Amino acid sequence: MSDKQSQLIFKHIEDSRRNMIRFMADIIRVPAIGPMSGGEGEQEKAKVIEKNLVDYGFKHIRHFDAPDNRLKSKTRPNIRVTVKGKSPGQRIVLITHIDVVAPGAISEWKSDPFQLLEKDGKLFGRGTEDNGQSLAAAIFALRAFLDLNIQPAADIVLFFVSDEEEANEKGIRHLIENNLIQKSDLILVPDHGEPTGRLIDIVEKTILWVKVSIKGKQCHASLPNLGKNAFRASMQFGTMVDKALHEKFNFRDASFDYPLSSFEPTKREPRKSGINVLPGEEVFYFDCRLLLVYQTQEILDEMKTIARTAADKTGTAIQIDPVFIEKTTHPTPSDSKIVKALSDAIYKVTKKQAIYGGIGGGTCASVLRNAGFEVAVWETIENRAHTPNEYAVIDNMISDCKVFAQLFLTQNP
Ligand SMILES: [Zn+2]
Repeated sequence: MSDKQSQLIFKHIEDSRRNMIRFMADIIRVPAIGPMSGGEGEQEKAKVIEKNLVDYGFKHIRHFDAPDNRLKSKTRPNIRVTVKGKSPGQRIVLITHIDVVAPGAISEWKSDPFQLLEKDGKLFGRGTEDNGQSLAAAIFALRAFLDLNIQPAADIVLFFVSDEEEANEKGIRHLIENNLIQKSDLILVPDHGEPTGRLIDIVEKTILWVKVSIKGKQCHASLPNLGKNAFRASMQFGTMVDKALHEKFNFRDASFDYPLSSFEPTKREPRKSGINVLPGEEVFYFDCRLLLVYQTQEILDEMKTIARTAADKTGTAIQIDPVFIEKTTHPTPSDSKIVKALSDAIYKVTKKQAIYGGIGGGTCASVLRNAGFEVAVWETIENRAHTPNEYAVIDNMISDCKVFAQLFLTQNP
């Protein structure tokens, strides 16, 4: 019975290919960039999504918008769509995000980032892969049930949320605070994956951002004996700390996409002085992603020890401050209900055996996990998110759509 239903649903999804591409064109046309990147938020794009949902025949559509005074619309939309299943109370919750990152330098794009381009089986545009592909796949997986009048195994809940790319504050955290997600839910966040479509992410590394502030003494560059060069001190400290962190915290966990902890110097504050000035100040940042065997305090202590040595050597003062910490406290067990159900669905559709692992972090799944929810992160993508000429592979979108539908059909609570 359920195999016959699967076949009907899969056929329906394959036949929906053009409609899915049309939907993608509709949503990519509307930028949904957050206020921290100077955008006007997700409101207009949410309207386009909702109009399509109504056209497709979805009945139970509700908004749980969060106020945001930074925007003209004053609001960050979060949309919920529900389709009732055979076992009331049991829910499968699938969360995708509406917002996108800014396109970056337009000269790097071969086509308009906000005009969908279909070429060689791919869809190009900002937000096609992150998170349009899975947002469309989720909608069309559930639409197949409506069109074919088949009832899913459990209540299916799709959330389309705001603010994933900036803080999750007005999106996923807003949903958690308003008790819209429950511990008994089977939660899937299709917002990270890899090209084989086998990796289910069940844990993320702890994120630690560190600010390094160096104070020396500014003077004329021709008379270095009168100053303390903060730039040179930053290079010396940088080299020492880079070596020490990589040598000391070198535990390897092959189940992670990048198997080591990472310690990357990234941003540097612009210097105000000219070429002939010996700089007295220097500020830069590290982005660290820690495997769970390490505590953020160990890293900070090591950095501070080296800062003292480098400061003594260079006659400067070096300050180490953590500016952001997202600690991983609750990895999702690989034998949790959602991971098992998803693995089964992946196998039924693709004949691939899922593997379980971790990533460097940055999806809203870490927010959910740290609030005590079990969450699987999975999709099939080529990791083009946030790059110029971002694209989604149409066949991946169709195949993932079938996996979502299979999950909705046979999940057995
Ligand atoms: Zn994303």
